[in-house]
Amino acid sequence: MARGKPVTPHLPPVILYFCSHLRGRLWLQVVVGLVLGVVVGLLLSPDVDFVAHAPAEQIAAWLALPGRLFIAAIKFVVVPLIAAAVILGVAAGGTIAQLRKLGAGIVIYFLMTTSAAVALGSAMSYLIQPGEFVERPDATTEASGQRNIWDSGEPKKPTTVPQAIVGFIPENPYETLVAGDMLDIVIAAVIFGIALTALPIRNRRPILDLLESTQTASMVIVMWVMRFAPLAVFGLLAQTTARVGISAITGVAAYVMTVFFGLLGLFAMYLLLIAIFGRLSPILFIRDIREVILMAFSTSSSAATMPLTLRTAEEKLGVSPQVARFVVPLGTTINMDGTALYQAAAAIFLAQVYGVDIGVQGILVVLLTSIGASIGTPGTPGVGVVVLATILASVGIPEAGIALILGVDRIIDMVRTVINVTGDLTASVMMGRFLSHRFPQRKR
Ligand code: ASP
Repeated sequence: MARGKPVTPHLPPVILYFCSHLRGRLWLQVVVGLVLGVVVGLLLSPDVDFVAHAPAEQIAAWLALPGRLFIAAIKFVVVPLIAAAVILGVAAGGTIAQLRKLGAGIVIYFLMTTSAAVALGSAMSYLIQPGEFVERPDATTEASGQRNIWDSGEPKKPTTVPQAIVGFIPENPYETLVAGDMLDIVIAAVIFGIALTALPIRNRRPILDLLESTQTASMVIVMWVMRFAPLAVFGLLAQTTARVGISAITGVAAYVMTVFFGLLGLFAMYLLLIAIFGRLSPILFIRDIREVILMAFSTSSSAATMPLTLRTAEEKLGVSPQVARFVVPLGTTINMDGTALYQAAAAIFLAQVYGVDIGVQGILVVLLTSIGASIGTPGTPGVGVVVLATILASVGIPEAGIALILGVDRIIDMVRTVINVTGDLTASVMMGRFLSHRFPQRKR
């Protein structure tokens, strides 16, 4: 038999052209995985009834396996990466005065954007009145427990304010690393990083070298894992679509649209900030961050997306490493504008459904608790809805209402996670500009 000539399959030229276009374009491969995942998921969903329920669940679970492995692998590097990135960002980031400026600037910025988000979320619910479109359910219905692909655990028990303030200081930094509590890791890393700045360079250097190697090795693992992103996205989307189907959305479509419009408004606000203060073209910004957007959408986890967010901020958006390594991990942990908007919108929607008049005081409580809750919400899938229960309880809305929105929560979670990570990237560009005279930015 003649050898040497590669056998070209007889595929239509359009498909061949498309396949050649996919090569080297990870974001496009992820989009293809996403679309195919939704199509396969729909075929497995109860709406289409193509496959019986039990085998469909099994198939979906197997399809999602690469995605679960993908998230597990990223999760594997998140703790060392956050710890190393924040310590390096702080310790290599200049003088204490500069750090103070960066720290104060970013906290004020986060509070302002989160407040804008909750205001927008509640305004949308008041404007559209999605509660009018839903029949009032039985308030005693139990909210069914939701299992997540990255189990989020229970929210912490409420404590008094002094206890909460003391609780901000992690008791044991090693235990903090083992427990993997993001906020504690960031706080411990900031304290340690500031302490390092007080050391003479001779004593500081070895530990900075060690941390730099830790960070680089973590990013190498992320690069390996990212190659499997299209397959992971395909499986995760297939499973989510197979579970949710289309019929779950129709009952609460007005609520879903209300939250989506709000999130879209927030996205527009980021683009405006990027154009006016960041002096970047919004189109270029979207192009630069498209892989992060796709990753956040598919994993529903800003923590799992964090390594990619960090790399994008530094390499594509040209934010100086000192700023990006401080703002991105901190933002991933405490800046969740999408979650805050959704929590406020959902609380007011459920008040409308149950006919609870929460009054002006109630609205203020919802706004403030949504801001606080989004800060304390870890960047993992589905946690926002668990924390929402606390907000509902604080204004007397039946917590059972959560059962009403649980069916569509995964879809909303995907979109709010996109907004959460876009908010972090916007923040790092803004802070980079604000402090560009101190931390020079890279040319894009
Ligand atoms: N999934 C969201 C995130 O990781 C958190 C949430 O709102 O549930 O950013």
